[in-house]
Amino acid sequence: MQEEKGTISIHTENIFPVIKKFLYSDNEIFLRELVSNAVDASQKLKRLSSLGQYSGEVGDLTIDVKLDEAAKTITISDNGIGMTAEEIKKYINQIAFSGATEFMEKFKEANDANEIIGRFGLGFYSAFMVADQVEIDTLSYQEGAEPAHWTCDGSTSYEIGSGVRSTRGTDVILHINEDSSEFLSQSKIQDILNKYAKFLPVAIRFGTKTNSEPDGEDEEGKPKYKSVEIDNIINNTNPAWTKSPSELSDQDYLDFYHELYPYSTDEPLFWIHLNVDYPFNLTGILYFPKIKNELELQRNKIKLYSRQVFITDEVKDIVPEFLMLLHGVIDSPDIPLNVSRSFLQADSNVKKINNYITKKVADKLQEIYKSDRKGFEEKWTDIGLFIKYGMLSDEKFAEKANEFCLLRNVDGNHFTIKEYYEKVKDLQVDKNGQIIYLYTSDKALQDGFIARAKQKEYDVLELDGPLDSHFTGYLEQKGGEKVQLKRIDSDVIDKLIQKDEQIELQLTADESKKVSEVFEKAIARADMKVEVDALHSDDLPVSVTLDEFMRRMKDMAKNGGGMGFYGTLPDNYKVTVNGNHPLVKKLIDADEAEANIIAKQAFDLALLSRGLLTGAELTAFVKRSVDMI
Ligand code: ADP
Repeated sequence: MQEEKGTISIHTENIFPVIKKFLYSDNEIFLRELVSNAVDASQKLKRLSSLGQYSGEVGDLTIDVKLDEAAKTITISDNGIGMTAEEIKKYINQIAFSGATEFMEKFKEANDANEIIGRFGLGFYSAFMVADQVEIDTLSYQEGAEPAHWTCDGSTSYEIGSGVRSTRGTDVILHINEDSSEFLSQSKIQDILNKYAKFLPVAIRFGTKTNSEPDGEDEEGKPKYKSVEIDNIINNTNPAWTKSPSELSDQDYLDFYHELYPYSTDEPLFWIHLNVDYPFNLTGILYFPKIKNELELQRNKIKLYSRQVFITDEVKDIVPEFLMLLHGVIDSPDIPLNVSRSFLQADSNVKKINNYITKKVADKLQEIYKSDRKGFEEKWTDIGLFIKYGMLSDEKFAEKANEFCLLRNVDGNHFTIKEYYEKVKDLQVDKNGQIIYLYTSDKALQDGFIARAKQKEYDVLELDGPLDSHFTGYLEQKGGEKVQLKRIDSDVIDKLIQKDEQIELQLTADESKKVSEVFEKAIARADMKVEVDALHSDDLPVSVTLDEFMRRMKDMAKNGGGMGFYGTLPDNYKVTVNGNHPLVKKLIDADEAEANIIAKQAFDLALLSRGLLTGAELTAFVKRSVDMI
């Protein structure tokens, strides 16, 4: 073959310095691109062979990635279809370079390297991010093909001529530049391959030639080093998600989970195998981890692949927000990775994929709920938060989940939303026909209030998760007709569920006023508002409660809702004095000093019962109590 020098026909000179600089932060993807090309070339050969268009021996298709520290080269070798000199000109010089030209015109719009690489077909040329010279040695599978050699220093001129490769396939040799010497490290390349190539469908062998072993001295007395070669296959060519679910046992799924997350000590609770090929192509396995009460820690565990090539673990905008709490793999060549992220959400494939995954997840949960309610209840602590998150953020999911979302009461019993409505609707209805769901956000702190509710045979839900302040709102809107939620400590029980019965106040107006004044004086706190009320005589003499509405507003402000104003307000408590309690009678008959002590003591007990008595007030209370006994 005749040696030939040429100029790549693009208009912009010095394009590579710009690309190099622009892509610098992500420059490790050169290896992903070159190894993917090698995989493509190998798979194409297999296909040609199976179609009868290639009659030669397919042989071993293992791809070699070789690092030679001394020569400062990285070589990617495949036994794929190879290229003729004409094909190099066509595919490498023209296609890739034309992509580069377009890139120059558009690169200002792009946001990250993935976008550009995909969009402008810069795959091969990403090599120039780390190499100042790239060689291709290749022999095409075609009969009578001659080996070809191409070399280019990243400028627009190249040389092409006869090559030395004697067997079918391609070597791409990168002469790593000064700035990129970090890639001449065995562990660095190993890491990159682990990240991007761990599940590639063709075996990848990584070999390093290091000159690290001391080997005597040379003639000048300088230490000599022996070359050591380390070889190992780095990938699993047949990862679980590419198999059919019928081939996989539970143990296989668990093993694959640990293959994905070698550092995780937790076991997933269950999983979903995704597999669809129309109207888009998607496979994958999603695992349900134990989510407990941590929303933030769990994100960004889903890995996105395209035909077994790792792309990213930032799946925001690709999967619905709440599904980001799941773990696992999604593999789809139909997710457009080469458009800017803001377009992703609007992309119709991405929307369909979102809907598909959401539906699959809901179906799986429903299936478990239906087939094993008890098991489902046991898992509720670990999946409840996820399900609520989904219900609050995705209407379609909520429609389905409404059927299997569980409410747990303080006794540890579980009910569906519908069952719970049926359970409490007759007893916990107030005089206006509102059905009141009572709930606690802290079983231990609100124990006194829970006990009062239980005396009345009311039920109390446990809603103590990070999303429950929003979930109460959901239940009010979607949980059944006229449902209202009240936290158990937001008023005395007879006010929480106000019945028609009238309890008469056993005090005269004057007495009531006096009681009120005595308490106000004894309490002397601006954030405590005293109210004398007619309650049952066996109710507590004094209760301290926090208004439901105000508390919700403040909770929302705390969680970053739009109610900033409320967040600045102090807590406002109500002190309900039970005018019918014998203690109040005693207080009226007492002299001023004694009345003050009774009021203080009763108030402190109310504070104490809800964990609000601390510091100097607690010390004073203890002292007063000791004096009294
Ligand atoms: P893309 O892979 O997106 O097509 P690239 O710039 O990575 O873009 O590669 C351009 C073309 O060069 C490929 O489509 C392929 O035809 C050819 N090519 C690249 N690497 C190889 C290889 N190892 N063996 C055979 N052909 C290759």
